Amino acid sequence: MKCDRCDNVAIEHMRYSGAHLCPEHFIEFFEQRARREMKGVRRDRIAIALSGGKDSTALLRFVSDEHEGELIAITLDEGIDGYRDESVVIASENCRDLGAEHVVIDLKREIGFSIDEIFSLYEERGLKHVECSFCGVMRRYYINRAARALNVDYLLFAHNLDDMAQTALMNLVHNDLSRGMPPYNNSGPEFVRRLAPFKWIPEREVAVYGLVRGIRCHIAECPYAHVAERNRYRSAVNLLERGSPGVRHGLVKSYDRASSMFPREGEMKRCSECGEPTSNDVCKRCEMTKTLEDLKYK
Ligand SMILES: [Zn+2]
Ligand SMILES: [Zn+2]
Repeated sequence: MKCDRCDNVAIEHMRYSGAHLCPEHFIEFFEQRARREMKGVRRDRIAIALSGGKDSTALLRFVSDEHEGELIAITLDEGIDGYRDESVVIASENCRDLGAEHVVIDLKREIGFSIDEIFSLYEERGLKHVECSFCGVMRRYYINRAARALNVDYLLFAHNLDDMAQTALMNLVHNDLSRGMPPYNNSGPEFVRRLAPFKWIPEREVAVYGLVRGIRCHIAECPYAHVAERNRYRSAVNLLERGSPGVRHGLVKSYDRASSMFPREGEMKRCSECGEPTSNDVCKRCEMTKTLEDLKYK
C-alpha cells in the first residue's frame, strides 16, 4: 500500500481515519499531534514522568528534540524485582544520552515497603489481592511532590489514547465524572500543571514511532499486571474499537466534554499526616501506608 502523501510504501494504516502513511509522513503526523498538546510550552522548565517503558521513553525522546528549556525526568522505583530495576537502568541511560537530568525516587525508602514486599505481606496474611491502584496513588503522589520540589513549570505524562479511553470508561462506570482525566487538571499551587502530549495518539502508534525512531526502551509486563482492573477495560475498548474504529477518540472527547461540566467537588485541603494536598483529611498515600503498617504489626 502506498503512502497517502507521497510515493513511498506505507508502514501504518490508521483504521479510525483510513490513512496510510510512510515512515516520514507517519513521524510528521505523530509529532504534529503531540506538538498541539504542548502549545504554550516555550522555554519552560519541564519534567517528564519516566518509567523507562515504550511510551514514556518515546515522550522523552520527542520532548528532548523539541524543547529548548530545561528537561528533567522523574522515575518512581516501586521495588519490583526483575522488572522496575531493569527499566530504571534503561531510563537512566536514555536520560544520559539525551542530556536530561534524572531523579529517581525509591518507594521503599519513602514508605518502608517495596511493592514486592507489599504483595508478599498480603499473601502471608491470606488477603486476596492488592489493587494496582496502590502503585497509581504512590506514583501520582511522589511524582507530583518531586516536580513541585524541582520547581518545574509543567509535568508531562506519556498517557496515550488507549490509556485515556480506558480511564474514561472506568470513571464513567464508577460514577466518577467529576474526576479529571489524566493528566488530571488539578489546579492550585500544590499541583504542577500537567500535560499529556500523546493523549490523542493510539498506543500502537506510539510503539511504531519508537521502532521507526530506533528508541531503546524496556519491554516487559509488570509481574503484577494480571491483577489490574484496567485489563478488563482494555479488552472492552479494544473489542469496541475493532468493531467500529474511532471509539477511543469518541470516548475521550465525550468524557472531556462531560467532565468539564462538573465542577470539582470540594476544596483542596492539606493532609493532616504529611501536608500534601488532598480532598480528604488524610491523603490516599498516608491512608495506604497506615493500612500496611497495621497489617505488618498485626
Ligand atoms: Zn509519505
Ligand atoms: Zn498524606
